[in-house]
Amino acid sequence: MVVKISENFNLDAFFVSAEYPEIARNMPVYLWQLANLWTLVNTVIQPVRNLLVEPVTVLSGIRTEGLNKLIGGEKLSDHLLGAACDITSKKIQVNPLLIAHLIHDSGIKYRQIIAYPAKGFIHISINVLQQAENKHQFLVYKHGKYETITT
Ligand SMILES: [Zn+2]
Repeated sequence: MVVKISENFNLDAFFVSAEYPEIARNMPVYLWQLANLWTLVNTVIQPVRNLLVEPVTVLSGIRTEGLNKLIGGEKLSDHLLGAACDITSKKIQVNPLLIAHLIHDSGIKYRQIIAYPAKGFIHISINVLQQAENKHQFLVYKHGKYETITT
């Protein structure tokens, strides 16, 4: 079964992990996580793809606590809620920070955007009901720490 979430993204694209593909592909999810993912894709990921006018690849989408631990994710990661994605593309790989600025300036509504220049990808999330509070934060990960671009 192919489940379309938006014009260019199918559900299976968000059940991925470079290190643990088998775990990511088979993990159990709650429908509320998929509801969050639907919102993330339709309000952020698809609009980013439209902005960049090129294919966008998901490196990490939904994570279970187990998978999140295995890959060393933050304890309260938005990935656990289905509310965050790590994405890349040809343009993102060249300059993640520049593309993060483009996304920020485009008016796309996000919770947190983190550019990883050394790794060539962007983490992006949305505010959802399950989080304690809303956030609006633009960070860059440089030399092993997070620097604030804007809040
Ligand atoms: Zn992430």
